[in-house]
Amino acid sequence: MSPELEAKLRADYPLIFTAEPIGDPDDPDVPAVLTLCATWGFECGDGWYDLIDVLCLNLQYATKNGAPQVVARQVKEKFGGLRFYAGGPNDEQAGMIQVAASMSTRLCEVCGNRGKLVRNGWIKTRCAEHENADNE
Ligand SMILES: [Zn+2]
Repeated sequence: MSPELEAKLRADYPLIFTAEPIGDPDDPDVPAVLTLCATWGFECGDGWYDLIDVLCLNLQYATKNGAPQVVARQVKEKFGGLRFYAGGPNDEQAGMIQVAASMSTRLCEVCGNRGKLVRNGWIKTRCAEHENADNE
């Protein structure tokens, strides 16, 4: 994802994409470490920005209404789909993450238009225009 869009997600959802090292709340002896998301950023294309934005908007809205604070550990593309690995979701929030993951296999990872899974040596979700395109 472009640095500009990454920075926007981090600024809009600082509690989800915290850059603070995270420890295990149940075990203070476990040393706090940076999340993969903080270290590597968002390992997917710009076309999924809106999907991630809407997901985080809803996750944070649920938190405002009493649900736990979700903290992203890793956000990446794998086998053409969005993987949003996070700590802390309740069942409702886990469902939101599942819907976003399912929807990602229908949205071009490059531009966000309607897409489909394309097998081309790798498996990616692409529109017709970007069928052969890498993320950039
Ligand atoms: Zn496209």
